[in-house]
Amino acid sequence: MSQAPHRISPATVFFALLALALGIALYVKTRPPRPSPAAPRPVASHAVRRPRALPPTEPTRAPELLPTPAAPARIAIVIDDLGNDPDAVERIARWPFRVAGAVLPGLPASAESARRLSASGKEVLLHLPMEPDGYPRIRPGPGVVLRADSDEKIEKTVAEDLETVPGAVGVNNHMGSAATADPRVMRAVVRVLTARRLFLLDSRTTEATVARRIADEESLPAVSRKVFLDAVESEAAIAKSFGDLVRRAKKDGSALAIGHPHPATLALLERELPSLDSRGVQLVTVSALASRSTKSAARSPKSASLER
Ligand SMILES: [Zn+2]
Repeated sequence: MSQAPHRISPATVFFALLALALGIALYVKTRPPRPSPAAPRPVASHAVRRPRALPPTEPTRAPELLPTPAAPARIAIVIDDLGNDPDAVERIARWPFRVAGAVLPGLPASAESARRLSASGKEVLLHLPMEPDGYPRIRPGPGVVLRADSDEKIEKTVAEDLETVPGAVGVNNHMGSAATADPRVMRAVVRVLTARRLFLLDSRTTEATVARRIADEESLPAVSRKVFLDAVESEAAIAKSFGDLVRRAKKDGSALAIGHPHPATLALLERELPSLDSRGVQLVTVSALASRSTKSAARSPKSASLER
């Protein structure tokens, strides 16, 4: 009665080999691929999370369209109504800050003010007198552009005004709540600026201004005033306006303010401008903010009579 206890049938051997072959096949198919030193695997998460590249920008021309989160907010500051006050001009000229001076034309100290500011490295604007609502009761001074003027007269006036403000790189309106709302008048002004490669700063002395729209239509570099620093001449009000300027610049990427040579305004700027960098804000020239935007000008929170 002895039977071989461990005899294995050929069928068992066949099925065992088949199972082994299947097992190997399954392992080879499902194991994770080993990284090859010649061609390392890309890390998937990097490819997925990499932010889309921003389109290239021209840094000085499109700040309002594409504020880069890492870039500091930019502000520009213009002191208006210079040309009658050599002491204020001298004080501003000695500043190490890149503020601009807007000089009224046709005054005894116009040309000398413009030259002193330019020599100190400041940008100079022609502060172009333009017809306000209430003219002639309210008079903007010599070299004024009026709505009744022909195109030729307007072009001649602006050209003559520029003669008395040498070195001007741009133009902004002094008063002008009536004239800047008139498309024909603004077209005539913009023609002169285009021919002379000057930029336009719309002081926005009225909500009804078309100055920026006309400049955009003619592809003239332009920028709009966002804040008047000293619409109210108290120290507290000026400080509050400066705070508004910084906030708007941080929100929009850039903002421009206009002030006047009042002692309180000049004192505030002397106090605030040295610490601007530490607040994440950069003071830039006006021309750095002037762009050929096709965007309609931002609306001002203030309205009505803003004649300056
Ligand atoms: Zn003015």
